[in-house]
Amino acid sequence: MLDIRVENLHKEFGSDVVAVDNLTMTFPAGTTTCLLGPSGCGKTTLMRIIAGLERPTRGDVYFGDERVTNFTTHNRNIGMVFQYPVVYRGIDVRQNIELPLRREKLSKAERAKRVDEVIELLEMGDSIHRNMNELDNGTRQKVAVARTLARRPRIILFDEPITNVDINAKLQLKRALKELIVRLNQTIIYVTHDQTEAMTLADKIALMRDGAIVQYAAPRELYNYPDDAFGAWFLGNPGMNFFEHLFDNADETATVQTPLFPSPIRLRGVDAADQQITLGIRPEQVKISLKQAPAYTPCIVQDKVVVTGGQYLLSLQVGEQTLKVKAPAQTGRHVKEHVWMKLPLEHMHIFAQGKRQSNARLELVDA
Ligand code: ATP
Repeated sequence: MLDIRVENLHKEFGSDVVAVDNLTMTFPAGTTTCLLGPSGCGKTTLMRIIAGLERPTRGDVYFGDERVTNFTTHNRNIGMVFQYPVVYRGIDVRQNIELPLRREKLSKAERAKRVDEVIELLEMGDSIHRNMNELDNGTRQKVAVARTLARRPRIILFDEPITNVDINAKLQLKRALKELIVRLNQTIIYVTHDQTEAMTLADKIALMRDGAIVQYAAPRELYNYPDDAFGAWFLGNPGMNFFEHLFDNADETATVQTPLFPSPIRLRGVDAADQQITLGIRPEQVKISLKQAPAYTPCIVQDKVVVTGGQYLLSLQVGEQTLKVKAPAQTGRHVKEHVWMKLPLEHMHIFAQGKRQSNARLELVDA
């Protein structure tokens, strides 16, 4: 098991595209890190540089204490699994897994042992004599994973391995990869743009934007305590609701009157003088009532759609603002009808200039 460390890693394409922006980061040994972020944020480029498939403009890559920046991909002794399963047609599953081992100076018995090991690990015993042409692309991807593991690489890199798998095989492959990751306890970097995949598979998520890692944290921590508004927006389906407010603390009370709350709100723990403050709340944290209740605010259902778990995603209009709310099925009112909502203060996030203010808090001021 080895750490992967990148130091001042920078990659430009041409004169105006910065794909990786002067990045310094350690991916700890034995940890599965998902590189997550929107299209074009630099995930693939970062992984390709770590793999030795792309040269950085400047900066270094280390595996443990060894500087591998100038090593070829082959000499880095890594395993890679790509978006499209690389398999060899015309030979069976077992031969596919064994093929790269034939290029290494291993005895027949050692080769057989390694193949048996990965077949067991991936629970592929039933498929070993099947022809590749008969397999769905989820199973083909499993074969590609098995072949990678049989070489016993020092580090494993996955580049969106589930993205192009048929929808009905996706879940099964994801489950198999999860079990594998837990059992292997290897240093793994896994590129994905799919947050559900990252939340399921990662020990840590490296959330990327514009060639930089904006936060490196366990999935739940990232979801519950995003360092900045970008993470709050990117994670979640849909992401956090945001409301902009200018807290004027000329009289040192920093209060704001907004239809979102039953009485004015005061901001504490942050110097809000003339600062544009962004308040955020996740759609599932908003409370809904079908009748008027103390501390609840009236609003109008603008739209509703059914989402996973039989819940509704409601669009509510409150004054000039719109907010997304996840509500249980029984609160699914018709469009244009009234409901009442409450934004619990303990679930409000406070951002100033995009950064979460962890010491700040809101309180209601009695009107
Ligand atoms: P996606 O999820 O769409 O693959 P990504 O986060 O993996 O995106 P990269 O593919 O690393 O992002 O691309 C980062 C930036 O570098 C993008 O602006 C992309 O257009 C640019 N880029 C990547 N590869 C090349 C290349 N070979 N030549 C020129 N520009 C490139």
